[in-house]
Amino acid sequence: MLIIDPRMVATGVNVSIKVAVNGYGTIGKRVADAVSAQKDMTLVGVAKVQPTFEAQLAVKKGYKLFVAGNGKREDFAAAGVHLSGTLEDLLREADVVIDCTPEKVGAVNKELYDKVGIRAIWQGGEKSTIAEHSFSAMANYATCVGAKRLRVVSCNTTGLARAGALLTQHYGVERWETTLIRRAADPGESKKGPINGILPTMKLPSHHGPDVQTVLPGLNITTAAVVVPTTLMHVHFNHVTLQRPPSGVGAVHSLLSGEPRFVLFAGTAGVEGTPQVMEWARDRGGSRSDVMENVLWENGIKLDGRELYFFQAIHQESIVVPENIDAVRAAFSLETDSLRSMALTNSSLGLTAGATRAPRPSG
Ligand code: NAD
Repeated sequence: MLIIDPRMVATGVNVSIKVAVNGYGTIGKRVADAVSAQKDMTLVGVAKVQPTFEAQLAVKKGYKLFVAGNGKREDFAAAGVHLSGTLEDLLREADVVIDCTPEKVGAVNKELYDKVGIRAIWQGGEKSTIAEHSFSAMANYATCVGAKRLRVVSCNTTGLARAGALLTQHYGVERWETTLIRRAADPGESKKGPINGILPTMKLPSHHGPDVQTVLPGLNITTAAVVVPTTLMHVHFNHVTLQRPPSGVGAVHSLLSGEPRFVLFAGTAGVEGTPQVMEWARDRGGSRSDVMENVLWENGIKLDGRELYFFQAIHQESIVVPENIDAVRAAFSLETDSLRSMALTNSSLGLTAGATRAPRPSG
């Protein structure tokens, strides 16, 4: 296990945290690529249960692949997919594991992580009690510095926490209400629905508000959710009563345009909704056409005194990726300042301020 002496970091001694990724699906494969792009982290390997196309592509990329859960070595051998060992072997090589297994499986894995004595970062599908703190970089980075166990909050919560942190910092928030229009499934999934219907989540308020409060405890937020038949993105409608009124809606536009984890589309951009956001993402280039930023529209923001109304879209497959990288830096105290960690992460992932930007590097 690597013990980081803060003096090593302070004196500029090169530190590289060895990161394992357990669960190589929607989130795991993106987190693995992002870890590989960091100068202060090394991806030691990824773990997968079955020798699917994703396992094959991981090996082709040069990632060491390990078998996890109830996966069988002989299945990988039969598929011609090279294994470097078991999940336990991987954990013994790493300083931290980022668990990207399906929800509730991460909780089962905790026993093994405890046995090996490895630090762990879980995703939003797990209960908040699994970790010392839930994490969202713009909201509570400082609280999480040095923590051995963190949970990066879910995609919707990350989107709300980023916006919540920004507006709280600049204007203060008296009250916040959100309706979440949730995508039914990820694009690669074929077993989830609905395929024709709109499903209100009958738990009122929905769990998202309390989840945001795990990273922004003082935010007075209430949420409700409906699920709709789309795979592209979630959309939130927000009504926020601010404590101090912005000077005008232009000030809100400027604030958002200056933040690398937000994209603001001008009315002239021709972006009517999530189909054009994803088309824009495909056109700008970059790995998997991901949109790791909160997406807002100038025309979708209305200010009336202290009352702020806005839509935002959230690319569920990728928005939590930068936060997982920042969580590693916070856990190992590589950066004690959230802005410095986010700057490193943003630059490595091609996230820059301003709605119009250069194409992202691929990979
Ligand atoms: P996923 O199903 O796409 O990927 C999970 C991967 O883990 C799959 O490859 C699966 O085969 C593998 N797996 C299953 N059991 C395993 C085990 N015992 N050991 C190792 N690997 C195992 O799931 P996902 O969408 O990537 O979600 C992962 C986590 O991220 C969940 O907590 C989820 O709630 C959270 N999350 C998902 C999204 C999203 O929209 N997809 C967004 C934010 C957070």
